[in-house]
Amino acid sequence: MQTSEIEDDKPHEECGVIGVWNCADAAALTALGLHALQHRGQEATGIVCFDGQRFNSQRGLGLVGENFSDARVMAKLPGSRAIGHNRYATTGETVLRNVQPLYADFEFGGFAVAHNGNLTNAGSLRRALVRRGCLFQSTMDSEVFIHLIAISLYSTVVDRLIDALKQVVGAYSLIALSEHSLLGVRDPLGVRPLIIGRLAHADGSTGWMLASETCALDIMGAEFVRDVDPGEIVVIDDRGVHSIKPFSKQERRFCVFEYIYFARPDSVVEGMPVYDARKRIGAELARESHVDADVIVPVPDSGVPAAMGYAKESGIPFELGIIRNHYVGRTFIEPTDSIRHLGVKLKHSANKPTLEGKRVILVDDSIVRGTTSRKIVEMVRAAGAAEVHMRISSPPTTHSCFYGIDTPERSKLLASNHDVAEMARLIGADSLAFISIDGLYRALNHEGRNTAKPQYCDACFTGEYPIALTDLGETDGHQLSLLERS
Ligand code: AMP
Repeated sequence: MQTSEIEDDKPHEECGVIGVWNCADAAALTALGLHALQHRGQEATGIVCFDGQRFNSQRGLGLVGENFSDARVMAKLPGSRAIGHNRYATTGETVLRNVQPLYADFEFGGFAVAHNGNLTNAGSLRRALVRRGCLFQSTMDSEVFIHLIAISLYSTVVDRLIDALKQVVGAYSLIALSEHSLLGVRDPLGVRPLIIGRLAHADGSTGWMLASETCALDIMGAEFVRDVDPGEIVVIDDRGVHSIKPFSKQERRFCVFEYIYFARPDSVVEGMPVYDARKRIGAELARESHVDADVIVPVPDSGVPAAMGYAKESGIPFELGIIRNHYVGRTFIEPTDSIRHLGVKLKHSANKPTLEGKRVILVDDSIVRGTTSRKIVEMVRAAGAAEVHMRISSPPTTHSCFYGIDTPERSKLLASNHDVAEMARLIGADSLAFISIDGLYRALNHEGRNTAKPQYCDACFTGEYPIALTDLGETDGHQLSLLERS
């Protein structure tokens, strides 16, 4: 292995996690939940389960359906307790040893961990652990949890976990499975989501679930109980659900990009339906950046709810002027620019009759590199649109995320190098507007909700990073490019 691989602790992961406790066929339920969380990661998937005697695991590259549809595979995953993970990795290695959940045998027994987020001090922790003799098996930041737990001098699983958590810095939603408990943890600022669900069994007993999003509970037929609190450890065992809060309370800073793009629209996140939030953002965008037009067209699928909100607020008709081919993966995950160019054409087609001769407002959730917008604008013009105006339901993405949403290095973010007028020219639009950061907060903090700002992590739009970027500038240009600005 090369040094660069060992040091590869950059934020590549956007993941989905799930845990099931006390349910027959826990692995099958976990696979169902992972299906619902497929949008959070498509590169690899895995399940670790426990049958009361043994832990078993199955991990593979690719989609949930490609790995967990075969009855012979599921038969190897017995037991009523399981955790699962979907991994999204755009660069670096996607090899089997980097597929979660991670599993290790400890002094206290077997232990499996699934992590969504990114640790910002994983590089320094890793070097210190390697110096102490820890042998790392993967290049994932999440593996430091395993080693910190292993070397902890505390005796119980929970005390060792707390000991480990006190040493890590970053954004994390963790689900772990030991022989006696299912554990869920959210970082002290609650950047990444994690929820608790319950399944009432016919015999009167209760099954418990932990998941990244409520859409996973819906598919499993489970009932939503509550969000795990920022900084909370939830311990689920035979006696029920217990809560531990080992950190001093801090202002929560949930990731605002979950509302804009990442979460599934049918999920309810931190008490707010994502679909409603997106429609309100679209309406606010219409109020902020009106332009006369004949038709509102969403860039599917991510632009649809915001475009609906925009259309309702502006009174301009909504049309599906672009049709998405659902059998093509997300263009974003393709590694090179040339493939991404090709990808957009594969994924979207113009619905000509809705566009010909029309003044079109296109609504999308974000501009990252600008590749998608440029291709879409070109396609809509080629279909005969008289004018093409682009409206974006997030502020300009000017900064990379270090907390678990994959974004390219700062120099590749269109908005970090160009003002809005230049961006409009580059994507070929007659006009371009983004929702303002204040408009975004107005849309999210509606009707009597707390309106204080900031109450989300909005670092990708503001450059204000609420969690220390401890490893920043250590190993690569990606991180250095941020150091200059933060
Ligand atoms: P780009 O072509 O690089 O400007 O990509 C912008 C598109 O990618 C947007 O329309 C989003 O729907 C989508 N997108 C934004 N952020 C992400 C992300 N972190 N992961 C995957 N897709 C994303």
